[in-house]
Amino acid sequence: MNILLLGKNGQVGWELQRSLAPLGQLIALDRHPVDGLSGDLSDLDGLRATIRQVRPDIIVNAAAYTAVDKAETETELADRVNGQATQVLAEEAATLGAWLVHYSTDYVFSGQGSTAWKETDAVAPVNHYGASKLAGEQAIIDSGCKHLIFRTSWVYGARGNNFAKTMLRLAKDRESLNVIADQIGAPTGADLIADVTALALGQALQRPELAGLYHLAAGGEISWHGYASHVIAFAKANGEELAVTSINPIDTTAYPTPARRPLNSRLNTQKLRANFSLHLPDWQSGVTRMLMEVLNK
Ligand code: NDP
Repeated sequence: MNILLLGKNGQVGWELQRSLAPLGQLIALDRHPVDGLSGDLSDLDGLRATIRQVRPDIIVNAAAYTAVDKAETETELADRVNGQATQVLAEEAATLGAWLVHYSTDYVFSGQGSTAWKETDAVAPVNHYGASKLAGEQAIIDSGCKHLIFRTSWVYGARGNNFAKTMLRLAKDRESLNVIADQIGAPTGADLIADVTALALGQALQRPELAGLYHLAAGGEISWHGYASHVIAFAKANGEELAVTSINPIDTTAYPTPARRPLNSRLNTQKLRANFSLHLPDWQSGVTRMLMEVLNK
């Protein structure tokens, strides 16, 4: 079994290198060419040539244009990487009879209300990044290829930068932090996403009727303010010396960004849990594990 992984050094891609390894022969690429294979999603012809050369049984696309604010102005590049490149992957997967595994976002929804989004809910992208990711989803579905699309949210990895590490860094120097309290979601570990991908893919290979669109996020819900408070309390309880004494809740309107953010990032994961008999742990368990690594405890 040949597996082509794109975006191998992103948060999710890095964890997929580990979780996909037992499933088959893994060819993992980032945007830089290796042995004449281009993994650059902005080069559509190069991408198509790579797939035709590798002839994978499974394509896992963890690469994406994820700069949410920049996507408001770099619209053409965001559309090419998130939309047109995904279409190339889907067309080539359909021709080869290969599986395509892809990731999308709750930003395809309006972000309104307080009910967790289901796969069947109406889409209305909240910003250009969300629109470009939706175009990618639709290209996959239209292609007719065998696919698993996982919409996720609030992704963190232990490697590289993440929200928790930023809060800890700021809390070392500042007595007071302002954190958004009216956006709600579930911090979801890249390691959990990668593990669920491998488990679901293993089942889908045996039962192709499981193909489809799924919501994937850790259990529970929290605001960014609650998340920051949790991280800082955990660090203090584990002996970190932090200057911060007050963490103030603020509204999204007090922190304007080029791209609009959804207030409601809750994802209903019932379909994924039922179809694949999977358990999704509460967000605290993955965050605790990540913090133990970050704090070296
Ligand atoms: P990251 O930003 O960590 O990783 C994205 C990867 O894509 C990076 O390694 C980046 O490489 C690569 N990439 C960007 N442009 C190109 C290109 N033109 N060609 C090849 N590679 C490229 O994202 P995540 O791991 O967090 O996201 C994984 C998936 O989950 C994506 O589909 C994303 O849209 C989705 N998602 C993420 C959320 C989040 O909170 N992060 C929330 C919801 C969904 P480089 O470092 O070289 O730029």
